[in-house]
Amino acid sequence: MEEDRSGARPAPPADHDQSGQRGQEQGADQAPLVCSARGCRAAPAWGLRWNNPRLHTPERRKTWLACDEHRERLSTHLDVRGFLRDVVPAAGLTGGRS
Ligand SMILES: [Zn+2]
Repeated sequence: MEEDRSGARPAPPADHDQSGQRGQEQGADQAPLVCSARGCRAAPAWGLRWNNPRLHTPERRKTWLACDEHRERLSTHLDVRGFLRDVVPAAGLTGGRS
């Protein structure tokens, strides 16, 4: 095995979006519950349960979280694609472990 280290490897382009990404210090297994709308950090009031039948088995549910302000926008986004299954109060989602 021979390692080819000739020449410096070009650094990968720094194409990550830095807006709103700083200072996330929450513990890894206790993800902070924030609205799923891009750039919104409000506490969610709603859980949007959805399923993409092309990707997911029928009983599978993905959950988006939405604050009051974004509930309609996010649910419409899912609904026009036929993905939206349920909208439930976020309070019913947060205490999920028994
Ligand atoms: Zn929001």
